[in-house]
Amino acid sequence: MQKVLLVTGGSRGIGAQTALLAASQGWSVAVNYAHNAQAAQSIVDQILAQKGQAVALKADLMDPAQIENLFAAVDRELGTLSGLVNNAGIVDQTQRVDEYSPSRLTRMMGMNVVAPFLCAKEAVKRMSTLHGGKGGVIVNVSSVAARLGGATQYVDYAASKAALDALTIGLSKEVAKESIRVNSVSPGLIDTDIHASGGLPNRVRDLSPQLPFGRAGSAQEVAQAICWLLSENASYCSGTILDVSGAR
Ligand code: NAP
Repeated sequence: MQKVLLVTGGSRGIGAQTALLAASQGWSVAVNYAHNAQAAQSIVDQILAQKGQAVALKADLMDPAQIENLFAAVDRELGTLSGLVNNAGIVDQTQRVDEYSPSRLTRMMGMNVVAPFLCAKEAVKRMSTLHGGKGGVIVNVSSVAARLGGATQYVDYAASKAALDALTIGLSKEVAKESIRVNSVSPGLIDTDIHASGGLPNRVRDLSPQLPFGRAGSAQEVAQAICWLLSENASYCSGTILDVSGAR
């Protein structure tokens, strides 16, 4: 049976590399994006050029109605979902906690916590044997910030990733007997656009000398861990939080 995977935020960074690698391992891949249609289409085109199957699906995950529509589109375009990578996530500008506005916190928790919860809900409805499904696997893209705390930069982001880890632990137990595995990867500093979007375009360059490896990780290195957790090679892994952090 064809394996169908949805990668949220699959157009750039870690999500894009995950989509490419998963497609090379036989998954049909839905590449979700919110703004950058060209980037999403370029990932789809690369997969199609390798004789894989993929489709770009626009949905702003801040909007619960668009999440429902996204999963319906995956059903329609690719068939029965058997994998979800809850990858899309945001950071915000560097601020201390005593500077945060309510709207900043609402946006952070909406995107990094509420959206992955709702995506997990839609996935479980399709995968769970309790609902007539054939099982599946969910990988949440967390961050080592959940245990480091993000002080002076983004404690809200760190807290959102700690919530995502709690989703991994709790949901993995809820659905363990329903043929669904749920795991997290926790990247350290990875060289992607996310740092520029938080107003720190030189973050990788500036922090690399202080890292144990003396360098940031690549999106491909994180994708390798995600795709391993997606695979049958990780058949007894559930509720696992796998650091991909270069000893950080
Ligand atoms: P990125 O390069 O900034 O890419 C973000 C992706 O999320 C893009 O595909 C973007 O789509 C999508 N996205 C943003 N807002 C969205 C929305 N409202 N609805 C749907 N999709 C949306 O990020 P990244 O560094 O690859 O990060 C991916 C994940 O890894 C995040 O959860 C992040 O927290 C986590 N992480 C990253 C690092 C790091 O150092 N990079 C470290 C630890 C954890 P568009 O192209 O349409 O904007």
